Amino acid sequence: MSETRYSEPVSVDEVVTLLSEDEDAKCVAGGASLVAMMNARLLEPTGLISLRRVDEIRTIEKSADGSVQIGAGMLHREVASSDELEGGHSVVRRAAAQIANPVVRNMGTLGGSVSHADPAADYPSALAAVGADIEIAGSHGRRTVPATEFFTDWYETALQSGELVTAAILPPVPPGSAGVYEKLAKVKGDLGIAMVAMVLAMDGDTCSHLSIAVGGCGPAPVRLPDAEKSLLGGALSEAGIRELGQALSEATDPVDDVRASADFRRLLIPRMVARAFSTAQEELGA
Ligand SMILES: Cc1cc2nc3c(=O)[nH]c(=O)nc-3n(C[C@H](O)[C@H](O)[C@H](O)COP(=O)(O)OP(=O)(O)OC[C@H]3O[C@@H](n4cnc5c(N)ncnc54)[C@H](O)[C@@H]3O)c2cc1C
Repeated sequence: MSETRYSEPVSVDEVVTLLSEDEDAKCVAGGASLVAMMNARLLEPTGLISLRRVDEIRTIEKSADGSVQIGAGMLHREVASSDELEGGHSVVRRAAAQIANPVVRNMGTLGGSVSHADPAADYPSALAAVGADIEIAGSHGRRTVPATEFFTDWYETALQSGELVTAAILPPVPPGSAGVYEKLAKVKGDLGIAMVAMVLAMDGDTCSHLSIAVGGCGPAPVRLPDAEKSLLGGALSEAGIRELGQALSEATDPVDDVRASADFRRLLIPRMVARAFSTAQEELGA
């Protein structure tokens, strides 16, 4: 059996160089998913490139325009307790807080989670709802891909060979918006059966901003921007919310698995959407 080379670079540029030298090498962040896959012999990388000493991807920064950049190396625990993620951005903080248990939250990273791209994971729907871009570095430099396009299939992403995820960039959210994350799991701390992530803002009785994504019900998070728009500019009604929930349910592509049947997931979505609205409206005092 050949040996796996292990390296500990200290910059993104060094990681990119190491990836370009060995296309079968893998980045290792928290190791929460990678080590399990290696133990099961689903992956046998020729090299392991540790990201733990790459300080430049271990920050959360809020810009003057209100956007927030979360470095790929941020632990779930750090994202879950970040003061930078407030208002509508708290949907991402709340998603991180619902990942597994304190041990996994203290190991796993945002970059590892989105690169692993488990459709049942918590970040994908939250990042899609907030309209985040995923920042990627490679030998070409840096590029960004909207979260809604980054997750391309079951455990597949827009990452190309030789690239790594460096950050999630959250655009500004409207002042006074609420960010709500609903997760249904068989037991607390388990991967979800279905998730609904939402950013909502109200101007008095008028819905002034709405973005909503469903996770865990198909290979990638689902958003319906046109259906979201139909609720903007007026008061929220039970019928409108029901229609949006139904449209989202019909747009998903769930499967039967150990956690739930596809039919059950489709049934859940409109109810979870209604609950997300009610939580967000309550928080906004609307
Ligand atoms: C018991 C258990 C329960 C869990 N429950 C949940 C849950 O409820 N919700 C949830 O969302 N997740 C859950 N997870 C997954 C967890 O969130 C992992 O932390 C995450 O999927 C992987 O993060 P990591 O930093 O450990 O990545 P690693 O395991 O180190 O890497 C995972 C994959 O991503 C690649 N990678 C890592 N970082 C990068 C990067 N920056 N750029 C490119 N590729 C990269 C690796 O090469 C590997 O292919 C659970 C995991 C375990 C073990």
